[in-house]
Amino acid sequence: MLRLASVGSGSKGNATLIASSTTTLLVDCGFTVKELIARLEKLAVAVDQIDAILVTHEHGDHIAGIAAASRAARAPVFATHGTVQSGRLESSFSVTEITSDSVFEIGDIEINAITVPHDAREPVQFRFQSDSCSIGVLTDLGSITPHVSRGFSDCELLLLEFNHDLNQLRQGPYPASLKRRVAGDYGHLNNQQAMTLLEQLSERPPKVVVAGHISEQNNSLEQVATLLEGWAEPLGSQIVYASQTDGFDWLAP
Ligand SMILES: [Zn+2]
Ligand SMILES: [Zn+2]
Repeated sequence: MLRLASVGSGSKGNATLIASSTTTLLVDCGFTVKELIARLEKLAVAVDQIDAILVTHEHGDHIAGIAAASRAARAPVFATHGTVQSGRLESSFSVTEITSDSVFEIGDIEINAITVPHDAREPVQFRFQSDSCSIGVLTDLGSITPHVSRGFSDCELLLLEFNHDLNQLRQGPYPASLKRRVAGDYGHLNNQQAMTLLEQLSERPPKVVVAGHISEQNNSLEQVATLLEGWAEPLGSQIVYASQTDGFDWLAP
């Protein structure tokens, strides 16, 4: 059985834990090591319990704390060639390059690194499998490609980006260039795009959906909840919201 917990989710820092009974993985770390350790404590995890660290891409809210976290945990870092080339992993405990869209194992967890459309060098998002349980973590993508919807189908638990409400982004305080970036095909998912993916997955919908990477400027929990709860109710799925300050506690599908 796999479990997932969020250390924090949003543009000021992301980190997610995936654990089986014998293996604990950290996905991304946009927090300082001090902040990470304090937040891990709330989830009853000691930093040296982390067996490996996976990096999705080199944006600061995902990579800023990776090297220091890997030294504190004495854990290897796994990242694509493009992410390694960013130079932001150089002082890590150790770095192993992974190939986009490959499947590999760490402990008893099988990991699929799935290519996503996002404005980084070689971004991937991850899907985890152990026994018959699968969990997907899918944030930081500007559009839903057929490759993405295939790659994340049949997950029992899906952490999915609900970054912005398109109208709120358009009317909001961001400069025009940043609005174009966020709303573009290589930016972030808006609420409607995230719902479109869930509709595509409706044949075998996730039992638990975690809404994450929610913009504090350009979105509201109320809007996300209205959309998601309408979707979840007839299916009996559970909805959880990942926050920037608190993430969320351990969940199992
Ligand atoms: Zn991000
Ligand atoms: Zn990003």
